[in-house]
Amino acid sequence: MDLNRFTAEKLSDHLYRIVDALEVACYLVTGRERACLLDTCTGAGDLRRFVQELTGLPLTVVVSHGHMDHLGGAGRFEKVFMKKADMPIFQVHRSCAFRAEFFSGHLNLSLSPSDFAPVPEEVFEDLPEDTVLDLGGVTVELLSFPGHTPGMVCPLIPEDRILIIGDACDDNVLLFDQYSSTVSEYRDNLKKMKDMSGRYDRILGNHGSYAFTMELIDNVLESCDRILARKDAHLWVHIIGEWMYSANAIGEDELRLDGKPGNVLYSEEKVR
Ligand SMILES: [Zn+2]
Repeated sequence: MDLNRFTAEKLSDHLYRIVDALEVACYLVTGRERACLLDTCTGAGDLRRFVQELTGLPLTVVVSHGHMDHLGGAGRFEKVFMKKADMPIFQVHRSCAFRAEFFSGHLNLSLSPSDFAPVPEEVFEDLPEDTVLDLGGVTVELLSFPGHTPGMVCPLIPEDRILIIGDACDDNVLLFDQYSSTVSEYRDNLKKMKDMSGRYDRILGNHGSYAFTMELIDNVLESCDRILARKDAHLWVHIIGEWMYSANAIGEDELRLDGKPGNVLYSEEKVR
């Protein structure tokens, strides 16, 4: 496998989706004066070199949260912004050995720590609350959305009416480990995101199909409500090497059997 393989797709006048060899996406927003890279994929391959082929503009790099498939390429850049609340997660996930073990198991590959770029602690800087980046003709609003992790941010590009919701809401929202919020808190934050839906009509993610319809948010809210009412499917499933409950029946491909987007996976301690 060529770990240095990246692909780019232009989604609007300002926006590229970049996908790395392990099929994780990040996004590049280009304005008149500056560019912004949103997430850094897994750290397989030289993401910086690939980004430089797309834009020569001065670059601000932001990672949405502290998980390895979002911060993996951070060490290729001088400075990367992330909310400080995710530092405890970052400290575990930045390890090359941790990433090699996870992706080898998850993708059934034989990867070694040297296949991943190291991520030194010093590259990180705390992302201030309510940061808005003006890139010249296009802005990126970094919206706080604690839930999947405490420091999670979702970039909104108002000029394109695009919300990059990422792991905050996708086909399998994970609320099971010590760092995630409860389903109840998560539901309230997702409702706030839905209440802003007058500002966006495209929803993008970092995994799977990388793009969702607005139905995604409604389905995840509805799954949360069923969990809280104790009326969900409550199925014990094994995903990403962990056991947790699924609000809906899922198949071997980890997608809902009823074909709808949006599911919640949770542990018993994380209901309320
Ligand atoms: Zn994540």
